[in-house]
Amino acid sequence: MTIWTLYYVCLTLVTIGLMEVYAWWAHKFIMHGKFGWGWHKSHHEETEGWFEKNDLYAVVFAGFAIALFMVGHFLSPTLLAIAWGITLYGLLYFVAHDGLVHQRWPFNYVPHRGYAKRLVQAHRLHHAVEGREHCVSFGFLYAPPIEKLKRDLRESGILERERIERSLDQQGSAHAPVR
Ligand SMILES: [Zn+2]
Ligand SMILES: [Zn+2]
Repeated sequence: MTIWTLYYVCLTLVTIGLMEVYAWWAHKFIMHGKFGWGWHKSHHEETEGWFEKNDLYAVVFAGFAIALFMVGHFLSPTLLAIAWGITLYGLLYFVAHDGLVHQRWPFNYVPHRGYAKRLVQAHRLHHAVEGREHCVSFGFLYAPPIEKLKRDLRESGILERERIERSLDQQGSAHAPVR
């Protein structure tokens, strides 16, 4: 492996990490903000059919990655490595969020231990709150400890203890809050 290959691989990996930070930020401040909720709201309610308005965000990201691939192809391999990072992040998001959590495709696997379980439960708690405010856990690959999220929810007074537990156990792959 040449030093350049190593550089591009590292750049791709760093991009994947930074994409999670960016996705966390965008999910918290754009999608749950006044400006972006219009598209994201559909992901917090039960929708019929295959698609939801929220998927438009994925289309925008994909469009950006494709543009970067084209520019990178002509101008610089560095941009190509970044485009690969964004694309691989999208793939991981698709597996973790759409697959593991929401079981959007035949992915009937519910993890019962380890980090995968924490990831699923943290995202269930994200969906446990009604509306765009007071939600917790905005990352898609990083999940804070469940006990911390429960504490945050209790302290904000937004959900009573019983409903928090019910969300963890019964939320399943649903999008709408457990009532
Ligand atoms: Zn959300
Ligand atoms: Zn979700």
